[in-house]
Amino acid sequence: MPKPKVAFYWCASCGGCEEAVVDLAEDILKVVEAVEFVLWPVAMDFKIKDIESINDGEIAVSFINGAIRTSEQEHIAKLLRRKSQLIVAFGSCAHLGGTPGLANFTDRKKIFDWVYLKAPSVINPEGTIPLQKTTTIHGELTLPEFYNSVFTVDQFIETDYYLPGCAPPPDLIIKAIEAILYRNLPEKGTVLAPDKALCDSCNRRDSKPEKSVIKEIKRVHEVLIDPEKCFLDQGIICLGPATRDGCGQRCINANMPCRGCFGPTSRVQDQGAKFLSALASIIDINNEEEIKKIIDSIADPAGIFYYYALPASMLRRRI
Ligand code: SF4
Ligand code: SF4
Repeated sequence: MPKPKVAFYWCASCGGCEEAVVDLAEDILKVVEAVEFVLWPVAMDFKIKDIESINDGEIAVSFINGAIRTSEQEHIAKLLRRKSQLIVAFGSCAHLGGTPGLANFTDRKKIFDWVYLKAPSVINPEGTIPLQKTTTIHGELTLPEFYNSVFTVDQFIETDYYLPGCAPPPDLIIKAIEAILYRNLPEKGTVLAPDKALCDSCNRRDSKPEKSVIKEIKRVHEVLIDPEKCFLDQGIICLGPATRDGCGQRCINANMPCRGCFGPTSRVQDQGAKFLSALASIIDINNEEEIKKIIDSIADPAGIFYYYALPASMLRRRI
């Protein structure tokens, strides 16, 4: 019997999701045994024409990591959608926009100005910036369009499942692959991780007093963090109340607060707004001036509350 065809593709991301597949260690051999890879640019040499030559719907599943930022990424996402029975948005950037999505607080022009013209390390006396078309002595060269906004994968194509995390942990990846191979799949649109908040399984949860109250917000480098105590109770922003469980508390176990890479649970529409409301409920100040002071003490609140999920949020981008 022919093996099911599987594709991996990499859009706007750091490459950590590709590493996560390699991190399957010896389990990757089981995957290689069970499937036929038809596209995996980080590991194997395939061309777009190889995918174009596959019949529509012939690929069992395509795992797409990274947000969509360019016309080329949009084109390949749409091509894979046509060729695949299932699309899995793999990792925070594909699922929610991820950290590249923070660029939605600015726009293409400001990004190009900074990166190619104004950053202190730039030497560019001719002020060259990337163009979609450039005529050279060898002919016309083209580049994909760099969009003004960063998008989630499901803002361009129908997406069947989501594997959350920056990057998704190996146990969730293996479970997802097994579920797909044995057709033991949950309802379409499911995020393949527990549908409860990280705080519910956090091993610091019991250290929380009945009602947490904080009077000031501190940054991680400003305090000696108690490794047993809830971060929020120490006045350190931790997105656990607004974040889905399933990562194995990777950051918490490293004595770092959660930044929300698993995104919200199904009951939460907007992760940043959910966290803001959780935070507001534990700030123990009634005086308006004092409240302003404590809010001002949060460095880059929008950036922290929407660290991984701005393109998927109700805000989507700065207007
Ligand atoms: S806020 Fe953070 S440290 Fe506190 S219980 Fe939730 S996940 Fe754990
Ligand atoms: S603790 Fe939060 S930021 Fe860290 S891996 Fe887990 S969900 Fe992601």
